[in-house]
Amino acid sequence: MTRERDRGAGEVLCLGIESTAHTFGASVASSRGEILSDIKEVYRPPMGSGIHPREAAQHHSKIAPKVVREALRAAGKSPEDVDAIAYSKGPGLGPVLRVGATIARAISARYSKPLIPIHHAIAHIEIGLLTTGLRNPLVVLVSGGHTTVAFFSKGKWRVFGETEDITLGNLLDAFGREAGIPHPAGPNIEGIASKGRKLIELPYIVKGNDVSYSGLLTAAVKKIPDSKLPDLCYSLQEVAFSMIVEVSERAVAQLEREELLLTGGVSANRRLREMFAKMMSERGGRSEAVDPKYSGDSGAQIAWTGALAFSSGVSERLGDSKVLPRWRLDEVEIPWRRG
Ligand code: AMP
Ligand code: MG
Repeated sequence: MTRERDRGAGEVLCLGIESTAHTFGASVASSRGEILSDIKEVYRPPMGSGIHPREAAQHHSKIAPKVVREALRAAGKSPEDVDAIAYSKGPGLGPVLRVGATIARAISARYSKPLIPIHHAIAHIEIGLLTTGLRNPLVVLVSGGHTTVAFFSKGKWRVFGETEDITLGNLLDAFGREAGIPHPAGPNIEGIASKGRKLIELPYIVKGNDVSYSGLLTAAVKKIPDSKLPDLCYSLQEVAFSMIVEVSERAVAQLEREELLLTGGVSANRRLREMFAKMMSERGGRSEAVDPKYSGDSGAQIAWTGALAFSSGVSERLGDSKVLPRWRLDEVEIPWRRG
């Protein structure tokens, strides 16, 4: 009870559960923007193979109760102390999403707490806005599940450009599997690329405001036997990153934005951050990236977005809590943001 009285007026506490892909995460966050805990366990596919949805779901089911308990314990809270239970409703892998939704429903029903459905990409954006303090940036979300350039207008995040096929995270992870680079390949490719010097020719594919990475993947994989791996990793990063920077620069120019937010797992990459920072500073603006602690999937992004959503009246009935593996960013109304 003492803890309850310590809270500011109107402040809410939200337990957030993330379960869209490799990561099962849980966290407690307050509507004042404090992340009180952030616990995660990551499913690692066998060397050389991609994520297997059913195996990932089995992994997540096994560790979920422990991760949720640990998130509450680390925050110093009991389930009774939190005001709402948020979960990733989509998009993501169906079997994996259902693990998170099931746990969230069970806690919501057991403790009579409202259930808050969260769109995973919006959670990447909100944790980016929280940790950078940016207010109305162009958003570049680059992760395993998304490669999206978005801006906020009339109550929704609108998509300016996106990938037409695989995401930037997929490109790096799939290339890594073919080149024998351990998973997750992104950070390992970054390390190898830092020793590359020679630019190997690879296809650069921008179509209007969209990028396409599947042809680049095929071409880069074909060059593995005849190239030095550091040069190939360096070239892959330079070409793939330049493509998304080009589209983003067009967005910044057309939408007249002075700020850019880089978020999602791939935004941890220092070369990518540097390219965005340079592009924005040449235009007299600035680029900021999400705190690397929260760049990859986390319960924190769901708990924080859940606190925002719950504070502005968002919740759903248990009967409506079906997961949406293909939920699009631009379908979601955002009542807590103006513009
Ligand atoms: P997320 O889906 O947000 O959890 O992001 C996961 C993706 O981020 C995976 O494809 C990783 O390979 C990628 N990633 C993580 N760290 C880095 C890095 N330093 N450079 C490039 N990609 C990264
Ligand atoms: Mg993600």
